[in-house]
Amino acid sequence: MRICHLCSGVPKRSRQQPRSLKLIVRRHPLTYFQDMTVCDYFRVPAPSEWACRLIAIGWLESGHEFSTGPVDSRLLEKLASLRPEFRSAFPAISFRGLHACSLCKGNVPLSDSHINLFVPTIGFVYVAPARIDHYIEGHRYAPPEHFVDAVIKCPSPTSAEYRAAMSAANRGYDAPLFKGSSQ
Ligand SMILES: [Zn+2]
Repeated sequence: MRICHLCSGVPKRSRQQPRSLKLIVRRHPLTYFQDMTVCDYFRVPAPSEWACRLIAIGWLESGHEFSTGPVDSRLLEKLASLRPEFRSAFPAISFRGLHACSLCKGNVPLSDSHINLFVPTIGFVYVAPARIDHYIEGHRYAPPEHFVDAVIKCPSPTSAEYRAAMSAANRGYDAPLFKGSSQ
């Protein structure tokens, strides 16, 4: 489950089960974004804090079409290494619960689905759920090639190179992800 930052904190159903947020699975209607559209889902940091656009990739939900086909094998390897790095680099921008893939039967939460990836490219930043690999491997999802290239080239989020690439993507301004950061 992703908890929407548009809502006032934890949904009511979650408040009734305070000890195990991760076991709560409830689909939120706002977690679908068509690929290559503006993603205004995040409230921390707020869209107004960015000088560039956040562009959605891989926000799939049942009932919405998506591209399928083979993908560069380097993408899955890179996603596997980026996931824990983003988790440790930016814990404040992770969601507070797990998301269940609505394309699968059984509504089973995906591990690490609370993590989000911010991938810089020229002129904007891609934002993708960290378990986009599940859609690729489990549902033959094929993200746009430009995104694949950007992920493969993405520096480690804990590196100075990443911060510089994010700044370049954000029109020369330090990315708000680093607000208050000592990196
Ligand atoms: Zn699935």
